[in-house]
Amino acid sequence: MFDAHAHLQDQKLLPRLRAVLDSAVDAGVTAVCCCGTGCDDWEALAGLCRIVSKPVLVPAFGVHPWYCLNQPDDWLERLERMFYRFPAAALGEAGVDGLKRDIPMSRQRICLELQLDLAVRLKLPVVLHGARAWDELLDVLTPYVRNLPAAVLHGFGGSREQFAKFSQIGCYFSLGGAVCNPQAKKVRAIVAEIPDSQLLIETDAPDLLPYGGKALDSDASGRPINQPSNLGVVAETIASLRGISFDALNDLTAANARRVFM
Ligand SMILES: [Zn+2]
Repeated sequence: MFDAHAHLQDQKLLPRLRAVLDSAVDAGVTAVCCCGTGCDDWEALAGLCRIVSKPVLVPAFGVHPWYCLNQPDDWLERLERMFYRFPAAALGEAGVDGLKRDIPMSRQRICLELQLDLAVRLKLPVVLHGARAWDELLDVLTPYVRNLPAAVLHGFGGSREQFAKFSQIGCYFSLGGAVCNPQAKKVRAIVAEIPDSQLLIETDAPDLLPYGGKALDSDASGRPINQPSNLGVVAETIASLRGISFDALNDLTAANARRVFM
């Protein structure tokens, strides 16, 4: 299984990394795309990728929309340098977020556009966040998408209409723990419609523990901490919603992830 989106460098996971990696390997996770969120965590992520070989870690470096206002002035130059050190990395997690009202959408869009310019220039696949702002994301992404090797919509949760538009421009849909919630009718209705060649699975660990998943622990605010070993729970749910076997789902999503990230 290939976990297309996690944050292993997060302080909730890093102190127990050995256990997190071992349980991921035991659960059948062979590779993880590990996404940075800003200048603050890129070095921790770079360090992880240097020392961890099982599962295989594919780094993604980028500025998450939540943190676009608190980056140093030279963040874009620093970001570009990460790709000279890690030429096989992806760009991400970048995007826009409609829930973060305190960060003006105009600023989020500029931060995303600068990163998409870089991804086009360096020919990098991108990992995108669009929570409650899928139309904004579509609007920013569309002029770039043909010039990108791949665009992954992490934690896709848009409407049927938004799904159709993103599908038309060739995006990948990465689905995580949200699909395991029986109440998540909107996203569950779309699961079976995603073309085989555009589907990915993810945990978004340490966030979004899936229903039926096993928490590593709980964080300071009492929220359960998710880990990549829960990817099988996500895969089982998606396989049953698509009416295919667990193995078939894992084979096709792993092949897609390798095409995007490796
Ligand atoms: Zn994330």
